[in-house]
Amino acid sequence: MSGNKTTTIVARFGLQSFVILLVIIPYLYILNYAIFPWMHDVTTFMSSVFHSILATALTCLVLISYILVSSTSPGDFNDTLSPSYYLLYPISSINSEEDKKFCTKCNQQKPERAHHCSSCKKCILRMDHHCLFIGNCVGLFNQKYFVLFLFYASLSIFYFFYLLVSRSLEVLLDSTPQQTEYNFLDISKLFLIGSLTISMVIIEISITSMLVNQLWLLGNNMTTIEHEGTKRKLYGRKVLPHQLQQYQDQLRRSDKGWIHNFSTVFGNPSLSWILPVPPHILKNGYQQRKGDIMEV
Ligand SMILES: [Zn+2]
Ligand SMILES: [Zn+2]
Repeated sequence: MSGNKTTTIVARFGLQSFVILLVIIPYLYILNYAIFPWMHDVTTFMSSVFHSILATALTCLVLISYILVSSTSPGDFNDTLSPSYYLLYPISSINSEEDKKFCTKCNQQKPERAHHCSSCKKCILRMDHHCLFIGNCVGLFNQKYFVLFLFYASLSIFYFFYLLVSRSLEVLLDSTPQQTEYNFLDISKLFLIGSLTISMVIIEISITSMLVNQLWLLGNNMTTIEHEGTKRKLYGRKVLPHQLQQYQDQLRRSDKGWIHNFSTVFGNPSLSWILPVPPHILKNGYQQRKGDIMEV
C-alpha cells in the first residue's frame, strides 16, 4: 500500500471518528439532561422510555448513513461494472454531449456524467460533489446514503432541539423556590444550554438547506456539478433568451418524472428509499440487474 493511500485512510478514519463523536455527544447529553430525569416520575416514565427509543433509533440511523456514505465507493472506472453499464444505465444528462471527453489524468475516455475529482484523483460516476465533511466524493453509489444522512441528521437535530427546549422550560418554570434559585444561579449550565440551542438552530438551517438542495437536484435528475456548471455558463455572461430556453429544454429532457429521477440513485421505489440499505440500481423499465451494476 502506498504512503499516500495510507495517509488518506488514516485521515478518513480520523475524520469519521470526529464526526461520530459529534453525533454521539449531543445524543448522550440529551439522554442525560432531558430524557432520563422523566424516568423518575411515574407520570412521565412511559414517555421517557418512548423518547429514549426514538432518540437512539434516530442516532443509529444518522451514524449508519454517515459510515456508509463515507466508506462506500461513489463509483469509478475500477469498480467491477459491466462494460455495458453506460448503455444500460438510464442516464439522461443535461450536458451529455459535452461530458463525453477524454480524461487526461486517468488517461481514458470519461463516461457520460462522470467527472474527475482532484481530491479522489479519479473520475467519479455521476459525480455530485466532493464532500470534505465525509472525506469522500458523493456519486452514483453513495448519494442515497448522503441524502439519508442529511435527512436523519436534520430530523434528529429538530427533535433534540424540541427535547432540550421542553426540558429547559420545565426546569426554569418549576415553581419550587429552591429549584428555581438553583437553576438561575447555575449560569454555566444556562450558558451551555443557550450555546447548544443556538448551535442547533444554525446547524439545522445548514443541513436542511443542503437536504432541500439535494432533493431538488435529484427530483430534476441533475447533479450539483451539472447545475453549477450550467449556472456558470448561463450567468457568467449576458444570458440571451434562447440560452435560457436551451437550459430549460435540457432540464426537461433529463426530467423523466420524479419517481424515475429518484430511482436513478435510490433504486426501485420501496420502503428501502428511507432506509440506509444498498439501492437496487435499475435499468429499462426499472428492472433490476443484479450484479451488473451494484457490486462495487
Ligand atoms: Zn479522471
Ligand atoms: Zn472526490
